[in-house]
Amino acid sequence: MTYQAPLRDMQFVLYELLNGDEILPSLPNCEDASRDIMDAMLTEAAKLAENVMAPLNTSGDREGCQYNPDDKTVTTPTGFKEAYKQFAENGWTSIASPQEYGGQGMPHTLNTLAEEMVCSANLSLGMYPGLTHGAINALTSYGSDELKERFLPKLVSGEWTGTMCLTEPHCGTDLGLIRTKAIPAADGSYDISGTKIWITGGEHDLTDNIVHLVLAKLPDAPGGSKGISLFLVPKFLEDRSRNPAFCGGLEHKMGIKGSATCVMNFEEAKGWLIGEPHKGLQAMFVMMNSARLMVGLQGLGIAEAAYQTSLGFAKERRQSRSLSGPQEPDQAADCIIVHPDVRRMLLRQKATIEGGRALAYFTSMQLDIAHKSDDEKEREHADDMVQLLTPVVKAYLTDEGFFCANDGLQLMGGNGFTQDWPIEQFVRDSRITRIYEGTNGIQALDLVGRKLGMAGGRAIKRFFAMLDHYCKNNENDLHIEHVKNSSKKLQQATMWLMQHGMTDREQAGSAATPYLRVFALTAMSYFWSRMANLAKRSLDAGSTEVDFYQAKIHTAEFFMDKLLPQIDSLITEIESGKDSLMSISVAQL
Ligand SMILES: Cc1cc2nc3c(=O)[nH]c(=O)nc-3n(C[C@H](O)[C@H](O)[C@H](O)COP(=O)(O)OP(=O)(O)OC[C@H]3O[C@@H](n4cnc5c(N)ncnc54)[C@H](O)[C@@H]3O)c2cc1C
Repeated sequence: MTYQAPLRDMQFVLYELLNGDEILPSLPNCEDASRDIMDAMLTEAAKLAENVMAPLNTSGDREGCQYNPDDKTVTTPTGFKEAYKQFAENGWTSIASPQEYGGQGMPHTLNTLAEEMVCSANLSLGMYPGLTHGAINALTSYGSDELKERFLPKLVSGEWTGTMCLTEPHCGTDLGLIRTKAIPAADGSYDISGTKIWITGGEHDLTDNIVHLVLAKLPDAPGGSKGISLFLVPKFLEDRSRNPAFCGGLEHKMGIKGSATCVMNFEEAKGWLIGEPHKGLQAMFVMMNSARLMVGLQGLGIAEAAYQTSLGFAKERRQSRSLSGPQEPDQAADCIIVHPDVRRMLLRQKATIEGGRALAYFTSMQLDIAHKSDDEKEREHADDMVQLLTPVVKAYLTDEGFFCANDGLQLMGGNGFTQDWPIEQFVRDSRITRIYEGTNGIQALDLVGRKLGMAGGRAIKRFFAMLDHYCKNNENDLHIEHVKNSSKKLQQATMWLMQHGMTDREQAGSAATPYLRVFALTAMSYFWSRMANLAKRSLDAGSTEVDFYQAKIHTAEFFMDKLLPQIDSLITEIESGKDSLMSISVAQL
């Protein structure tokens, strides 16, 4: 597989759209994030993704991970260990981690850009350090100073990786059902016993220790999700003795075969409490939120890889003649890129990726502002945006990542279906992103059930105010009517939810998924309008990057003409309510 990091587009979003080169270095302790430094780091990340990680993507898929039952270990595909080592040694595990624990303290946004590249190049390999970030965040926010000192430095340096152990055979979404037990020991630690399944990176050979973050219940735990506590359980204890947290086997799955998905058996393994007893979900949410944004980037990354592959194919594959007459009469046929239907599939990918990139990077920058700004009001505003947009980034970008990979495959015809091309792997690999870290249905319920009502609807009001402010200040610019219109429709859908969903939760449940999509499309219309206007201004100012900026203007038109109108049918779907879903009996289904 070949991959070329879309550095120009990344820079366009980071600097021209989001003013990242002004905002990020102005945040406390981020003075080093100058444009020169960020550019240099991104160039290095691109080299690593293109030259080290991407070449292992296909072989990693074919070879997969191997379980060794004799010693309950897992061997990752050939080359993964060396590539991971290079990744860690080059500082990519520590970019945004706290400096007091050996991190570089750079903005999270920079990590986001690097993560997109990693996800495009080799999603399976990227999972190992990806989950470690979540563990670092949870430990930083809720761990005791002692735990932080003992475990953070090696997680930050990448010498150890982290996992997130939530799921059990009988419980995935409903974590209140977990059975794993934590019994207090005399020395202040806990004995953890239970079985977790589908644990990413639960066992592997990339590092010589693994730090598991495990949800379990204390003996006096109240029932349901209020009784869950979070524990840190290392594979090896500090005296190098083996903690009995063993891998019982690997899942055989349709994609991300280079990522070890493990059954984990905790057999009175020694662990330490993170945060307060029974408040583990709170700490876990820190980890899950960061993981949700990462999974959104997985969708984006795979879509980019699929786009590059299918675009290259469309420029070379010759079939039939253009409907407007032969474009290359000397050849037996024209390249398929002349056909409107092929362009539909390409442009859907391009518009989704570039708009999605703006949405994802915007959310990441809000996260930096929420964590680092010294202005309390600014922090609160940014945090509202992060809370509101996290489920949207996760669900919309992973749905679309899969659809884009599928379009890429469709565009390539029978070739796409064969293993001669990497695209069938992208389709398989991207499928899981819609499921883990909370299925996309659950993300939609989170948006509708928790985020809309937060602080009396403050976050959604701020989102509408942002769009309104933009439209009022740019009345004569490109696509302002589209932004106004979609914002009006999102308000209409929000109003419908308030009128029907607050008194009847099934109404909210039936509207959640189409509502999240209306939300995402509205946000995309805002970013596409802004990007088209920036491009126009650059061209008017005499920029020599004519193709780059004209492409932005054309792609914005495609988005507004062909993708944004989905909002109308989604609104109809929302307003039709729950009846046709709920009136049919279980026996009739
Ligand atoms: C490859 C892979 C890697 C994974 N990695 C990890 C990991 O590292 N750590 C970890 O802890 N877990 C991991 N998981 C588990 C993953 O997070 C769960 O699969 C996911 O949370 C969904 O749980 P479930 O599969 O049990 O589905 P279920 O909870 O059984 O849900 C089944 C269906 O019902 C729907 N549903 C459930 N409840 C509701 C509701 N209240 N309202 C509406 N719809 C509902 C869901 O959306 C879904 O469509 C992984 C899974 C896979 C396959």
